[in-house]
Amino acid sequence: MSFKPISEIGEFGLIERVSAIAAPSLKNAPGLMEGIGDDCAVYRTGGPALQVATTDLLVEHVHFDLLTTPMHHLGSKSISVNVSDVCAMNAEPRYALVSIAVPRKVPVEMVEELYRGMVHAASRYGLAIAGGDTSSSPSGLTISVTMIGETAEHRLTLRKGAMPGDLVCVTGTLGGSTAGLKVLLRERATMIEQLRNNEPYNKDVMAELQEYTGAIRHHLLPEARLDTIRFFRDNDIVPTSMIDISDGLTSDIGHICRRSGVGALIEEGRIPVLPEARSIAEEFQEDALSWALSGGEDYQLLFTVPKGLYDDIAANRDISIIGRITEPEEGLLLTDIYGMTIDLADSGKGFDHFTP
Ligand code: ADP
Ligand code: MG
Repeated sequence: MSFKPISEIGEFGLIERVSAIAAPSLKNAPGLMEGIGDDCAVYRTGGPALQVATTDLLVEHVHFDLLTTPMHHLGSKSISVNVSDVCAMNAEPRYALVSIAVPRKVPVEMVEELYRGMVHAASRYGLAIAGGDTSSSPSGLTISVTMIGETAEHRLTLRKGAMPGDLVCVTGTLGGSTAGLKVLLRERATMIEQLRNNEPYNKDVMAELQEYTGAIRHHLLPEARLDTIRFFRDNDIVPTSMIDISDGLTSDIGHICRRSGVGALIEEGRIPVLPEARSIAEEFQEDALSWALSGGEDYQLLFTVPKGLYDDIAANRDISIIGRITEPEEGLLLTDIYGMTIDLADSGKGFDHFTP
């Protein structure tokens, strides 16, 4: 038997392989309506509402760095990223199970602060932390959160369901998380340099960070868009498809197109790039649009609605209509601000854990 490096098939290739192995287990769960492949699994329990379940890992050195991540923020983010997946099903979160693997050197107070951050977020979203598991860790802090939510059956929204002619919409702004991360990584390099040279930490640097607070907040403290789910409920809107943007707009609109069997045409000029991300990108001589397209971790909602709902959606100032769904043969295209058409299928992908 020959062994294949995971980087050859990437994160999504690996998920495909394990889901093929897991497929026979589906026959044990007749109430399961959606298994692997959407933002949450969906199942019936006999009550009036459908249940949704999701889980997300935050791993030290992969998802966060202790030098630049306050524990309170990390706790809040570990809840928000799961609420975001629950929202992507047009559902509301109810319960969280929290598992932590903690290096022996981490003091009790740090773990307590992590939980204070989780509870702060939990009370904003109206959910309970109902259990978990605890282990020591030989290599860094790991936080795994599993979340259960629910939705009325007629409100359930999957990645599949987008139809040609539908409007493609996105909440909030994009690119902020990557911009914040860039600033934090630069800051981290300065801190390490100062530590190496035995210099005292220069507190003025913290003051300099003030001008980047907005972008840093987008990275360290993303807000799941439960407000948008409530806007849909209050206005009787059920999107035809939805996903949360965790890997970047290109990758995530790609998931909607593949699962729905459609194409999409996105207009660059309508993509809501965070203005602060544009100025930070200039400073780093990078492109804020590519941060929005493939940076990831913005945790906004990307959804489609029939074009007849244009006025209802346009009434919400926090939602941008960025394009429309097309026939599958048309593929996934972006028209830039000069009217040139770019094939997004060939352009930069979203974040993949195994492909450099
Ligand atoms: P998201 O970014 O919305 O959290 P992912 O890209 O992590 O979604 O996962 C895509 C799909 O694959 C989801 O349905 C998820 O439940 C499933 N999945 C991811 N990793 C695994 C795994 N190791 N085993 C089984 N299913 C997985
Ligand atoms: Mg998701």
